[in-house]
Amino acid sequence: MDKKRRDFLKIAGISTLAGLGGPAVVDRLVNGTSPVGANAAREYDPDAQGETHKAGAGEHGEAAEGAKTRKRWGIVIDLRKFREDPELAEKAIKVCNYNHNVPHFTNKRHEVKWIWLTEFENAFPEHSQYHKDTKTLETEVLVLCNHCDSPPCVRACPTKATFKSPDGIVGMDYHRCIGCRFCMAACPYGSRSFNWRDPRAGLDMKKINRKFPTRMRGVVEKCNMCVERVGIGLQPACVEVCSESKAMIFGDLNDPNSEIRQVLKNNFTIQRKPSMGTHPSVFYIV
Ligand code: SF4
Ligand code: SF4
Ligand code: SF4
Repeated sequence: MDKKRRDFLKIAGISTLAGLGGPAVVDRLVNGTSPVGANAAREYDPDAQGETHKAGAGEHGEAAEGAKTRKRWGIVIDLRKFREDPELAEKAIKVCNYNHNVPHFTNKRHEVKWIWLTEFENAFPEHSQYHKDTKTLETEVLVLCNHCDSPPCVRACPTKATFKSPDGIVGMDYHRCIGCRFCMAACPYGSRSFNWRDPRAGLDMKKINRKFPTRMRGVVEKCNMCVERVGIGLQPACVEVCSESKAMIFGDLNDPNSEIRQVLKNNFTIQRKPSMGTHPSVFYIV
C-alpha cells in the first residue's frame, strides 16, 4: 500500500468513527478515476438503491410499472446445461479470469475469485430438503456476484468505492477502496475477494489482457458483470462463451420482451439466500 493510501486509510477511519466520512473527504484525498471506465466512475446515487423495491417489486425483485424505464441487467444460469456439459463452467471461469486479469494463487488464503464452482449446499443453504436427490446433491453451482437490487455491500462501504449503477450493476472503483473490508462482511454470498498480495504476482504479466487494469494489494474486487463489455453492447464474457448451449442468459430484467424475461416466465428459478432480502439479479434454473 503506498503512502497516499495509507494516509487516506488513517483519515478515513477517523472520519468513519466520527461519522464524518463522505464523498468530500474521499474526493479530496483520492484523485482516482475508475479503472473500468465511465460506468464505474459514476457517482453512486442513494436514491437509486433498491429502487424497484421502493416502487413495489414482485417476489424476484422485478420492477413495478413505474420503474420499468430503467434497465436492470441480470443473468439466468441453467444448471441443467452445466450438468450436461461440465466443461462449460471451466470455460466461463477461464474467460472471466483472462478478461479481468484475475490473479491465481495456490494458497487459498490469498485466493481471488470472480466466478467459481461451489457445492449446491453452499450455494443454496436455504433450499435444503430432507434427503435430497443425488442429482441435486452432486450439482456444482457456478456462483458470482449477484448484483443485488438491494446490495448490503454498497450500504456498508464508507467511501463509495462500491456502488450500484442505475442499470443495476454493482461496481467497484478500486481507487476509492481503502481495504476496510466492510463490504466483505456485509455480503452474504462471499462474492468479494481481498487482495492480500500484489495481484500482479499471481498473473503471467506477459499474457495479461492489456485492455483491463490490474489491481493492487489492499483493495477488494469482484465480478463487475463485464461492465466494460455491456457498455458497448456486448454480452458478459462468461455468457458469450456459453452462448451455443444457452446455459447462461443475460439481459434486461425490466424489459418484458427480453429473452431473459421469457426464460424467467417459462422456467422455475431460484435465487441465492432469498431470506437476506438482497434481491439478487442472478437466477438459477435447477
Ligand atoms: S452478491 Fe454480495 S457483493 Fe454482489 S451485490 Fe450482492 S451483496 Fe454486493
Ligand atoms: S474494502 Fe469494501 S467497504 Fe471498504 S472501501 Fe473497499 S469497497 Fe468499500
Ligand atoms: S459477468 Fe463478466 S465479470 Fe462477472 S463472472 Fe461473468 S465474465 Fe466474470
